Amino acid sequence: MSTDKKDIRKLNIEELEEYISSIGEKSFRARQIYEWLWKKNAHSFDDMTNLSKGFRAKLSEVFSIQNIKVDLIQKSDDGTIKNAVKLFDGNIVESVLIPTNSRTTACVSCQVGCSLNCEFCATAKLKRMRNLTAAEIVDQVAVIDRESREFFDRPLSNIVYMGMGEPMMNYNEVVKSIRMITSPEGLGMSPKRITVSTSGIPKMVKMLADEELRVKLAVSLHSAREEIRNRIMPFSTKFPLNDLLESLQYWYDKTKSRITFEYLIWKNINDTQADIDALVKYAKKVPSKINLIEYNPIDDGEFEQADPGVIEAYTEALEKNGIVVKVRRSRGKDIDAACGQLANKSFEE
Ligand code: SAH
Repeated sequence: MSTDKKDIRKLNIEELEEYISSIGEKSFRARQIYEWLWKKNAHSFDDMTNLSKGFRAKLSEVFSIQNIKVDLIQKSDDGTIKNAVKLFDGNIVESVLIPTNSRTTACVSCQVGCSLNCEFCATAKLKRMRNLTAAEIVDQVAVIDRESREFFDRPLSNIVYMGMGEPMMNYNEVVKSIRMITSPEGLGMSPKRITVSTSGIPKMVKMLADEELRVKLAVSLHSAREEIRNRIMPFSTKFPLNDLLESLQYWYDKTKSRITFEYLIWKNINDTQADIDALVKYAKKVPSKINLIEYNPIDDGEFEQADPGVIEAYTEALEKNGIVVKVRRSRGKDIDAACGQLANKSFEE
């Protein structure tokens, strides 16, 4: 698709109205177009059947619609579906449909690659190529909604920003995508069903709290000890745990929404009593619950899942202190669709 035309979805409704009136069309046409773009996920101006042919032709002379294309669908034995999604410029990201008995969750990407450098994450090995636009994020949601209806006979129910990339490093487009997903002119989903996951950028957590979007927040903590977190998530040297905590307390004060800490436990990294004590102490300082996530090995050997006994010790200590804790198994491992495995592997060589 030609890239010299402006992507029409970069315009907000006011800008679209302005353009429409500048070419002498009635202003309600702007809303109609907006609905085609954001609610009905139209892929071409020809889909917009309530506009005249001439008008559609005029629009396509000036604008493009830079939709994503699903390049490859892989299905896991456990029902998980991974989409390799091609963007208009040829870049590829991955998004995942995760079915459970009652829900379908979409795990969406917000960057091509990732700007952070977590040592245990496959996505971090890809350098960040670019941020996704809000439209490209919404398109992933629309695709998974269609797949959920087709394969599971029900609409998409939940969205997690846990695919490739760091949402807080593509803040504006992520927020815009949430507004489009939740607004009546867009997909009209409840924000309570959306979780934004961050590696923990305090300033941005506060900013998101101020947006009043009513989404949920998850934080990839993995260690509550500064020196260990700095080693496994090197970017975090710039964001001390205390600053992060302060931003999470701010989040809770503003939103009254409990934070989910995501936490992986590795052999010889964070499997001692001191690690457990630090987590308990940290988590008690802000209303939160903990998801202990199973580690999915990526190629290098430094990281290894801790012994089951350690996971039990963590669980017991947290529960004893009144903190809700869940042990989560990863889905879609056989197709490299699980947490931390998204790395466009099907396109290597
Ligand atoms: N950048 C955001 C969004 C990605 S979410 C964030 O970090 O929160 C992806 C989740 O998978 C994060 O919690 C991440 O820490 C976790 N993860 C990364 N590598 C993993 C691996 N190899 N096994 C299991 N989880 C992993």
